Amino acid sequence: MSASNKVAIIFTGGTISMKVDPRIHAAIPALTSEEILAMVTNIEKFTEIEIINFGNYPSPHITPEMMMDLAVLVKKTISRDDISGVVVTHGTDTLEETAYLLDLTIKSEKPVIVVGAMRNSSELGYDGSSNLSAAICTAISEKAKNKGVLVVMNNEVNAASEVTKTNTLALDTFKSPEFGALGIVDNDEVIFYRDIISRDFIDTDDIETKVMLLKCAPGMNSDIINYCIDSNYKGIVLEALGRGNIPPQMIDGVTRCIEKNIPIVLVSRCPTGRVLDTYGYEGGGKHLRELGVIFGGNLPGQKARIKLMLALSTTNNMETIRKLFEKDEYKNN
Ligand code: ASP
Repeated sequence: MSASNKVAIIFTGGTISMKVDPRIHAAIPALTSEEILAMVTNIEKFTEIEIINFGNYPSPHITPEMMMDLAVLVKKTISRDDISGVVVTHGTDTLEETAYLLDLTIKSEKPVIVVGAMRNSSELGYDGSSNLSAAICTAISEKAKNKGVLVVMNNEVNAASEVTKTNTLALDTFKSPEFGALGIVDNDEVIFYRDIISRDFIDTDDIETKVMLLKCAPGMNSDIINYCIDSNYKGIVLEALGRGNIPPQMIDGVTRCIEKNIPIVLVSRCPTGRVLDTYGYEGGGKHLRELGVIFGGNLPGQKARIKLMLALSTTNNMETIRKLFEKDEYKNN
């Protein structure tokens, strides 16, 4: 084991740190980092571990500001010469948002791995220790360098920019529905089957939190968009219908936003496929493009929101933000 073969594990909480409290018969954060690590048997044969405690939060308690604090901590840790990779433990509910924020803001060739568990330590088949050992094996792998932030769960390796939680209870809940997994962890070794499609970098340690995510549904009008404008929101992500279309009653609000230089990023509420200006009717993608709506490709709404929050922390220039979202995706840009 070389001096630089040391992995820092930053513990933030989540089910991987939970057990059932007998008084309330429900899972709460309870395990210490040392207790979690003690269940990962034989790891000392692979690498030296440094424990860093960020907190013990259920992931619905993690805010975008906390995600940014975590990103600053990961950047500081990964820049150390004695650290070869960083593993972050996290609750699975908002794991994809934290992982994507880390991916967008950290530029390092060293592996950064985000991991969690679907079963708490009181349940039969706690998956925390196997997931954590697979994450550590990935963090020490030469092959995991220059791949951006990776999510390792259930022995699958997915790119933070592509992965999403697809199931409320399954152990293999983390999937990349658009492109498939990057690889697997097998026999304590990571094997990649493909490379990442593309990566973005937003150079910021700051985050604009006043960004709303709205899911569109039939008959919706401009009420909530108008509320956002009046409440000083700086940006809106619209999870539109199908190919990227909205009910015509929402057009008023969209127009008001763009007049006030509040960017609207359009994504789809469909789990896969990108948005496009295919339809020319009122509220269709073509109409939205003409109004100045930004097209968000195939990002899910929750990821587009993180990207817009980071973009808005660096600029409020609509065209700069548009380029960030439409860069490789749309040929007319
Ligand atoms: N509700 C938990 C959390 O996100 C779920 C988990 O960690 O799997 O903290």
